[in-house]
Amino acid sequence: MKTALVTGGSRGIGRSICIKLAAMGYYVLVNYKSNLQEAEATLSLIKENGGDGELLQFDVAQRDDIKQVLGGWITGHADDIIEVLINNAGIKDDSLMAWMKDEQWDNVIKTSLEGFFFVTRLVLDGMMMNRYGRIINVVSLSGLKGLPGQANYSAAKAGVIGATKSLAQEVGRSGITVNAVAPGFIKTDMTEDLDEKELKRMIPVNRFGSADEVAYAVGFLASKDAAYITGQVLSVNGGLYS
Ligand code: NAP
Repeated sequence: MKTALVTGGSRGIGRSICIKLAAMGYYVLVNYKSNLQEAEATLSLIKENGGDGELLQFDVAQRDDIKQVLGGWITGHADDIIEVLINNAGIKDDSLMAWMKDEQWDNVIKTSLEGFFFVTRLVLDGMMMNRYGRIINVVSLSGLKGLPGQANYSAAKAGVIGATKSLAQEVGRSGITVNAVAPGFIKTDMTEDLDEKELKRMIPVNRFGSADEVAYAVGFLASKDAAYITGQVLSVNGGLYS
């Protein structure tokens, strides 16, 4: 069984990625943190489109949780190698750095940066034995250029970009590619408090992007044909950053 794992697959960009990978023929493990109803909705959409998958609840910010749930799944499915891993789960908790609380720093770093590390390390073993794998990390424009009020988020995403480039060099010989996708402003719950009318003036294509547009880029990097692309960051931002 060709399997893909999408962290944060219950909503937004992650949901679109789950649907895309299912359409590409993958059995999709839909990870979520706490929103069971939305995760079930993602799974229903996968099935309505003729695909299949299952829910896998764990908190990517809790390494023991990852070990227990994801590690348990891997041990119990020795023949079902996870071929595609999408590290998508993420949160933001913005504040100017002078006023940023310890928890704001810790939570964002734990979710995006540490989550990437602990999930990926677990999944790598199977990919290396299988000598095939696609790892795609959802980062952000904020991790490339930095944004005021997002020192925690920019640091986490920039950290993942660095790790993407390192890991790509470590596992290229094993048939595994490691890339990042850096969205700009995408319409999801994460951006619902932003004023699109005001912000779109800065964006060359003059609108926020959709989750499906990010999923399209992820699907491309996850395809077999993208075998010679690794260690790259693909921006999906309507031309906002160049
Ligand atoms: P979203 O709509 O807020 O959805 C976040 C997803 O991540 C949910 O599925 C959530 O699960 C999951 N999640 C959060 N914390 C988690 C944890 N500790 N463990 C497991 N799952 C967790 O966000 P989004 O806009 O789709 O963002 C997806 C990714 O794209 C994030 O990494 C974000 O930083 C990045 N991004 C987004 C934008 C944008 O404009 N939207 C721009 C650049 C980058 P629950 O449903 O259970 O809470």
